[in-house]
Amino acid sequence: MKIIADANTNINMLTDTHAAEKTNHSRQNVLIVGGGPAGLATALMLAKRGWTNITVLEKRATADYYEPDKSFNYLIDGRGQKFTDFLGITDKLIEISVPSKEFYLTEIKANGSKKTFQVPFVDPKQKTAYWIPRRAFVLLLYQEIERNWQDKITVLFNTTCVEINKIAQENAEGEQLEVVSKTQNGSVTKFEPQLLVGCDGIYSIVRNTLKEWDKSTSDRFEMKCFPSPSSKLRYKVLSLPPNFPLDNSGEEHAVCTMSYAVRSAFRDSRRTLSLGLLPIKNPDEFRSANIIRLPNHEIWKLKNSEQVYNFLEQAFPQLPIHQIVSPEEAARFASSEGGYFPPPQYCSGLHFELRHKQVNQGMGDRSSTVGVVLLGDTIHCFPPDIGQGVNSALEDVCVLNEALSKNDDDISGALPLYESLRFADVKALIRLAQIAFPWQYNQAPLRTKLWSVNTLLRFLLNRLLPQIFSPPAFFLIRNYQLSYQEILVKAQRTTQILYVLGLIMISGFLASVFRLVQI
Ligand SMILES: Cc1cc2nc3c(=O)[nH]c(=O)nc-3n(C[C@H](O)[C@H](O)[C@H](O)COP(=O)(O)OP(=O)(O)OC[C@H]3O[C@@H](n4cnc5c(N)ncnc54)[C@H](O)[C@@H]3O)c2cc1C
Repeated sequence: MKIIADANTNINMLTDTHAAEKTNHSRQNVLIVGGGPAGLATALMLAKRGWTNITVLEKRATADYYEPDKSFNYLIDGRGQKFTDFLGITDKLIEISVPSKEFYLTEIKANGSKKTFQVPFVDPKQKTAYWIPRRAFVLLLYQEIERNWQDKITVLFNTTCVEINKIAQENAEGEQLEVVSKTQNGSVTKFEPQLLVGCDGIYSIVRNTLKEWDKSTSDRFEMKCFPSPSSKLRYKVLSLPPNFPLDNSGEEHAVCTMSYAVRSAFRDSRRTLSLGLLPIKNPDEFRSANIIRLPNHEIWKLKNSEQVYNFLEQAFPQLPIHQIVSPEEAARFASSEGGYFPPPQYCSGLHFELRHKQVNQGMGDRSSTVGVVLLGDTIHCFPPDIGQGVNSALEDVCVLNEALSKNDDDISGALPLYESLRFADVKALIRLAQIAFPWQYNQAPLRTKLWSVNTLLRFLLNRLLPQIFSPPAFFLIRNYQLSYQEILVKAQRTTQILYVLGLIMISGFLASVFRLVQI
């Protein structure tokens, strides 16, 4: 691949000078927008398949760039490990993460009492899952590129994709893609990829461009949003120092591999809150305390560090707040916008094709496909209730790999196959995100209790009559051998049986009341 720089306009054109001689897949140059988990995983998958000329555009400065409000933990389960196994990096993942089978939670009440228990939703029959901070996981993928695939993959940090155009091909009837990127210092680069991969998350420029191109004929690239009890919640992260003291005496300190739920002294719904900390392997890393509450909560009204300190000191008298929240962190927390959990959403178009006519001198004209494919949050996005954001993104990559295998890396066959293999699962995943575990944030205590009763009932019925009743959907999701569609069918079948049993019981009750009245 050769870069031709236009000195006058500071525009670079990337062209493939060896197009005619190479085999089909290595001839194709690939541009991936977004260097998050989906983007880097796709680059690695393509490189492992023998593709070359793969460029990733990432607007952040580095792979492990620290964004406090994006410093949440992933739980890489069996579904995500299908990808790490494919790449041969599961051992490295295990080294730097905390296994779910050692997942203990310490609850610290406002009076300082502490209780530690093993989190009950770990299924010993399932593959161990691994807790890892987002940035550590993205760095793991990036280090794999640096170690083994540097000759095939180039990652351009601080580079934002700003425009995507369809342009007419010179001397031919087809169309070509033109992707424009901009670096932080203002330099502009233009790419002409054969395959464009959209992995740029929920606000994807790639998907939005396809939506514009396609809007007169379909709404395939429009995100369809669905309601969820957790989608209106707001979140912010408070960064706490490693091994911070857990009490005012300073005797006990936080252990990195332990998760914590620190309960507040407040009881009223507008002030009560918990600090939720998930386990991490690195003892020197800052701990992220997640705060997730409804938009009318008092915590969102704090304007400066003084107000942050006042609120936290009243809320958490069991913690030495001034020792564990630095003035810089209090100021950052007050000024941070945080975020809102998105509604569960998906789009039905996972790929797009342009007809591209390639002129092969002496061999006559040959037509080949220029394609766009979408993966990860770009096509499905939802609140983090079911811990499937990263796992579903990695599964997308495995499905694309399967589609490429079945088509000998010819994208004209592989991209439609990817869409047909994946779409029904994407739809089921979004339905699962709506129903599986949306009440876990105690945003409506009564609904949370009802949800717990429902979960317990399904759990017990499954233990008693496993042929008839399935475990709750949240447990089934951990079974990576089941597709999201299969999980949804099982959960819905149990719901239908419960409805029928409920109806029979109500009818029986009414019939006996009727009989009593007649006597
Ligand atoms: C508060 C919160 C908590 C979460 N918790 C969990 C959890 O516990 N478990 C879980 O599995 N998932 C969780 N998720 C979801 C998870 O983060 C995503 O599902 C996952 O990161 C998807 O990966 P992705 O690569 O598709 O997208 P992203 O991680 O969003 O990556 C997209 C990348 O594209 C880059 N980018 C965007 N636009 C451009 C552009 N124009 N040019 C260049 N680069 C661009 C971004 O900088 C980013 O690096 C959570 C999400 C949120 C918001």
